[in-house]
Amino acid sequence: QLQVPNMPKIPYMTGDGVGIDIMPAMIEIVDTAVYKAYKGERKMIWTEVLAGEKAFDETGDYLPEATLTALTENLIAIKGPLMTPIAGGFRSLNVTLRQKFDLFANVRPVIYFTGVDSPVKHPEKVNMTIFRENTEDIYAGIEFESESTEALRLIEILKTDFGIKKIRFDKTSAIGIKPVSPEGTKRLVRAAFDHAIANGQNRLTLVHKGNIMKFTEGGFKKWGYEVASDYPTFTVNAFNSIKARQGIEAAKAAKDQAMADGKIYVDDAIADNFLQQILLNPSDYQVVATLNLNGDYISDALAAQVGGIGISPGANINFITGHAIFEATHGTAPDIAGLGVANPSSLILSSVMMLDFMGWHEAGKLVKKALATAIADGQTTQDLGGNLTTVAFMRAMIGKM
Ligand code: ATP
Ligand code: MG
Repeated sequence: QLQVPNMPKIPYMTGDGVGIDIMPAMIEIVDTAVYKAYKGERKMIWTEVLAGEKAFDETGDYLPEATLTALTENLIAIKGPLMTPIAGGFRSLNVTLRQKFDLFANVRPVIYFTGVDSPVKHPEKVNMTIFRENTEDIYAGIEFESESTEALRLIEILKTDFGIKKIRFDKTSAIGIKPVSPEGTKRLVRAAFDHAIANGQNRLTLVHKGNIMKFTEGGFKKWGYEVASDYPTFTVNAFNSIKARQGIEAAKAAKDQAMADGKIYVDDAIADNFLQQILLNPSDYQVVATLNLNGDYISDALAAQVGGIGISPGANINFITGHAIFEATHGTAPDIAGLGVANPSSLILSSVMMLDFMGWHEAGKLVKKALATAIADGQTTQDLGGNLTTVAFMRAMIGKM
């Protein structure tokens, strides 16, 4: 557990686009909740640091040194959406921040708020937390473009080493390589198990494409199960071996008994089948640990299922150093930026994750409950079918507290 002072300095990055609409609303709500919960004994000391377009306009730098210093000195920060510069040598500012602070877990809780429009019949059955590996896979990979000498060399290896007639692949093809490591996998999966235990959850699923990518994604599965053996778990492998010896009923009974004893039931799923299963049987899943790209798809698909694409929170966390950046998961929404109508819920729910991470659960609960009640009462912004401005929604929430 993190040691947090009563008056922690919290750097915040307003970010670009709707950042200027949603950031002040989040700050006012958190301040209100913290005051209510701790009667003035605790207080956030918000300090603005610059990043993105806003930073570039003011300092000529998309990620100024002062920002990096503040983020190094303070473990916890929160950010709005950042415009990724087209020039400037960044793949993406978000990816750069994740890599700079080795924020290896992208944590995305997905829950349903009554009153939100969902495309599925039973969105209330969704209650999952995705742990997406944040530093490896294709995001740390290399691509070689068509006609490059590297592409040509690798294509030659493909053709000769695998002896398959890959006529189509010549120097005009492009090629990509991705790395996945046991250490990177294990620290992510450990964070997922720790989360399950801290939250009294007893289901964890490793999601991968190990059937196709045997060593990278298959490695994730293998190393994930190795971590499982360090925790109080009952794995699908144990289930299957009982099933083979004593039949399905005995296996089911052993699994139920293990879960009743507080063990975590661990299995794995191939990513494509998993995307099907979360639509058909969402209540079968709780904590999900997966590789970077799978996690990208799964997070958005699940958020859509609860109608929450604009109100889904997220955080990038290094659970070893304690560095964490909480964030609005949507983009800069240039079409409505500055109009004062953006929905601040994604950032607000990320602030709830931040309060929980700090151990300030009482304040987090106040914020979450106020948001849930406002939405259930139909007090929402335009994107959720209501007619409130950002500020009116914030006031509605404060009224609920
Ligand atoms: P970026 O390139 O930064 O991702 P974008 O043009 O892709 O920007 P998004 O931010 O991804 O835009 O938004 C997609 C759509 O969702 C837009 O129509 C936008 O208005 C809407 N949207 C996104 N965030 C919010 C929000 N917080 N409140 C209301 N609508 C939003
Ligand atoms: Mg976008």
